[in-house]
Amino acid sequence: MTIDNIKEEIYKANSIIILTHEMPDGDAIGSSLAMYNGLKTLEKDVDVIIQHHSTVFDFLPKANEIKTEGSRLKYDLAIALDCGDIKRLNGYAEYFENAGTTIEIDHHAINTMFADYNFVNPTAPACAQILITVLENLGIEITKEIGTCLLTGIITDTGGFKYQGVSAETFEFTAELLNKGVNVSDVYKRVMQTISKDKFELRKLAMERMEFLENGKIAFTYINKEDEEKINAGIDAHEGIVEIGRDVEGVEISVFLRENQEKDGYKISLRSNEYVNVADICFIFSGGGHARAAGGSTKFTLEEAKQKIIDECKKHLK
Ligand code: 5GP
Ligand code: MN
Repeated sequence: MTIDNIKEEIYKANSIIILTHEMPDGDAIGSSLAMYNGLKTLEKDVDVIIQHHSTVFDFLPKANEIKTEGSRLKYDLAIALDCGDIKRLNGYAEYFENAGTTIEIDHHAINTMFADYNFVNPTAPACAQILITVLENLGIEITKEIGTCLLTGIITDTGGFKYQGVSAETFEFTAELLNKGVNVSDVYKRVMQTISKDKFELRKLAMERMEFLENGKIAFTYINKEDEEKINAGIDAHEGIVEIGRDVEGVEISVFLRENQEKDGYKISLRSNEYVNVADICFIFSGGGHARAAGGSTKFTLEEAKQKIIDECKKHLK
């Protein structure tokens, strides 16, 4: 069984590197820090590498130990979390390729199974929820600290316990954490509710621009680099915009385009409500994700990208 191999490899390894996807979200960061805190208790020589990210997650235990570069080139073991494709390790794929052994723990439906051992459960609502099983299997106690990291991943990837995929286990685990003294309400408020002023301003702009196409079944909006500069938007200010469109009555697909910061083109975010598999649509735009939340990218201009994506979306509407 993969889980037994994972246990064996983790126990065998001395040096371990934990990696996650580019533009890391709450699940990527929460999962990575849960694993890091856990492996520290096994007294492993472990590094957790996370790309530049939102300061919202600075409250998580050992967030101050996050590195943006490994302390060596070759590790005994590399573990990729919340990442369905090695391409999304971005500049960090090299650590993965150089490692003696590799493990992937993930919940993305579109998955290239790029590690020696792939522990993938696409029905899990968050990678963090899979880690409960993994950590228990490793004999690592889920302390208040580790629990806070896992809960952050679960809350952010389920949109605050509300997406499909939330299971009895999600609530049972949260109840257990409450018993352990984790301040669930505080975590919720920090990662879901409170938004910075720049995030508010960017959302306002995106909402003003939002169009409803195909009889209101498609919501479309975008943000350009210039907009972010004007507002002095932080690294995560665009997050949550795509969900605004999805929440409007009658909308099946919400499309959000964000102009890339460093290269030409746009990052695509898609969400759906009931029946469209947006991961299939994003697959065409060099991306992937989940049935109801997916992403990709395009080198086209705004108007061209909009046209191509909307045309593709139309094919999936009833
Ligand atoms: P978001 O729209 O929030 O950036 O991403 C939604 C979901 O799609 C997340 O689970 C994310 O990991 C996945 N995703 C976003 N962009 C890409 C991409 O370029 N490639 C792949 N494979 N998945 C992506
Ligand atoms: Mn995730």
